[in-house]
Amino acid sequence: MLVLFDIDATLLKTEGAGIRAMLSAAHELFPGRVFSFAGIEVSGRLDTLIWREFMRRHNIEPTTDLHGPFRRVYGEHLQRGFAGTCRSDALPGTHALVDALHAMEGIDLGIVTGNYEHTGTLKIAKAGFAPETFRFNAWADDGEHRRDLPRVAMDRHGAVRGSRLSAERVIVIGDTPHDIDCARHNGCQVIAVATGIHSEAELAEHKPDLLLANLREWQSVASWIACR
Ligand SMILES: [Mg+2]
Repeated sequence: MLVLFDIDATLLKTEGAGIRAMLSAAHELFPGRVFSFAGIEVSGRLDTLIWREFMRRHNIEPTTDLHGPFRRVYGEHLQRGFAGTCRSDALPGTHALVDALHAMEGIDLGIVTGNYEHTGTLKIAKAGFAPETFRFNAWADDGEHRRDLPRVAMDRHGAVRGSRLSAERVIVIGDTPHDIDCARHNGCQVIAVATGIHSEAELAEHKPDLLLANLREWQSVASWIACR
């Protein structure tokens, strides 16, 4: 099986460190201009899409030439923030769940996230996870839409393991309707956790296979996965 974790509000919380670093990057690249994320949905979306909307909201054409420097400077600010006072805190139960699944025979782990690879890896490492635990990943740059991402992680898994898993052997764990949608679109199973901005009632409307308030009861989550 392949278990694919979302990062923000599923594995960990950074209390806005990512958004603050993006704002700092914009202010560094466009000195004298004022930027804001007011009115821009960030939860469960790809950083590439967030960046494009963020630029257009400020009347800047989001060209490829601008995207490269933005990604780099955003990463520098996030790294500096984490070296200072910015936090990336693992959510309750996540370390134990990841460790338990990692130790199970026949289960591989990966990340499916809207984060860029370099900044997502910074967040994971700062929260105390070993990035190499997650071997089959898909990041913001791996698709135009979150729906593209599970397939990318599954392709990478198939290339290493020598055979392709059927989609129902893949479980996505995430905190937003976008996570549920990307799993369903690819025929994967999905565990939704209400540790982000969406309540259990909101997530229930999107009919995940398993719905939890959080991952505190990690033993039962690990058992649920092992029994699939
Ligand atoms: Mg999330």
